[in-house]
Amino acid sequence: MEKILNYINGELVEPKNGKYLDNFNPSTGKPYSLIPDSGKEDIDLAVEAAKEAFITWSKTPKQNRSDILMKLADTIEKHFDELVKAESKDNGKPETLAAHVDIPRAPANIRFFAGAILHNSSQMHEMDGAAINYTLRQPVGVAACISPWNLPLYLLTWKIAPAIAAGNTVVAKPSEVTPMTAYLFSKICIEAGLPKGVLNIVHGLGSRTGDPLTTHPDTPIVSFTGGTVTGKHIASVTSPMFKKLSLELGGKNPNIVFSDADFDKAVSFASRAAFTNQGQICLCGSRLFIQEEIYERFRDALVAKASKLIVGDPSEASTNLGAVVSKEHMEKILNKIDLAKVLGGKIILGGDRKILDGNLKDGYYIQPTIIEGLPFDCEVNQEEIFGPVVSIIPFKTEEEVIEMANSTKYGLSASIFTENLSRGHRVAAAIESGVVWINTWLLRDLRIPFGGMKESGLGREGGFKSLEFFTESKNVCVKI
Ligand code: NDP
Repeated sequence: MEKILNYINGELVEPKNGKYLDNFNPSTGKPYSLIPDSGKEDIDLAVEAAKEAFITWSKTPKQNRSDILMKLADTIEKHFDELVKAESKDNGKPETLAAHVDIPRAPANIRFFAGAILHNSSQMHEMDGAAINYTLRQPVGVAACISPWNLPLYLLTWKIAPAIAAGNTVVAKPSEVTPMTAYLFSKICIEAGLPKGVLNIVHGLGSRTGDPLTTHPDTPIVSFTGGTVTGKHIASVTSPMFKKLSLELGGKNPNIVFSDADFDKAVSFASRAAFTNQGQICLCGSRLFIQEEIYERFRDALVAKASKLIVGDPSEASTNLGAVVSKEHMEKILNKIDLAKVLGGKIILGGDRKILDGNLKDGYYIQPTIIEGLPFDCEVNQEEIFGPVVSIIPFKTEEEVIEMANSTKYGLSASIFTENLSRGHRVAAAIESGVVWINTWLLRDLRIPFGGMKESGLGREGGFKSLEFFTESKNVCVKI
């Protein structure tokens, strides 16, 4: 079985303890590679290498840093097909989705920050001829970048590209559930000539590698994307150390459809927002609020549309939904569906595991599931499920839907469908979330600061905000 290796100081190396974990292919339910079960000793080596590399990298001219990032992006594209297959095999998602979203967005992230670092500017304030104040932005040191399993390469590059562009060096810990694309990426870094130690990738469990990384005295920046519970833990251990911290966490995102919406467009987006990537995107619209006048017609149209989605072999071009990421995650989702029934919800589509044929029979497939009849404030409508499950809830008025939409502890994203321009802006302003889309979903502009309110996160990443986050600002006052 193929052995994944850590990437430390420019080399692919075994974990110091020699231990490995099984890496499962969710579409077959079988292990297909081994992943290092790394520990503190590997993190220490990686941080040491990154610290050493920082001395040169932080002084490397921006143009040179940009050039090497561009080369990394080109090299990713050279290995495009291999990465698409690896992402699908590791994660269970359809290859078509990996080919259209995850893998193309990795070089796009890297190219964006390779350009941004050349065009970044800083502020200057002049004091009526007495003095000038300017803000100097300087790289900080070794950044700890921790990423989840749902969009593995995309979210890894979203963090390491701005960190490296800004002159920091990085120790990254990808999710142990989906390590393969990060491993291929470490080979790509070697091929592209990234100087040794600038990026280090250590694989392993959150508790054994994540903790030593986030609490290491020589990692002054921590950028984490993952669940709210893990985010709380990381905040609790890093805050007393006064680290720069960015948290991109979970969501229970409302998708609000007013009766004046473009009906077909809203149905289509509601289905995409609920089921893309088997519902495992932090921005998925898992609570669908439909105005009463169109409730029944909309519900029936959504059921008709979603019932045509094909759950199947991720390598088939016709497949819409592949497997969910792991057996544990599948069981968690199915338990939440059972809870919905107990709480009085009616399953109007799906609701079960889907068993496929042949070597896919043990894969972790779940039917697209639509639930109606649950109160907006019950557990199923308040907690993130992170699977192909959407709960539909009728509403009467704008005020009522705003209250229900804002009722969760999360505040990551929201979508509003209406042809009434004033209402769109009004509701967007009233919704407590870091991102609001009007008449669309998941339309990302990399220049826009991204992040969540409430328990969905802390800070904003994206665009020049990421470059701000990955630098320390110093204000210099010069007396004239
Ligand atoms: P987790 O919080 O379980 O894990 C995220 C990462 O943190 C993994 O690499 C994990 O490693 C690691 N980790 C776990 N424990 C620790 C620890 N004590 N210290 C440091 N690192 C640790 O999230 P999931 O991987 O399950 O990802 C799904 C979650 O991510 C969902 O809640 C989703 O909403 C959220 N998410 C948020 C996004 C956003 O931008 N707001 C985007 C995408 C996802 P390991 O896997 O080894 O446990």
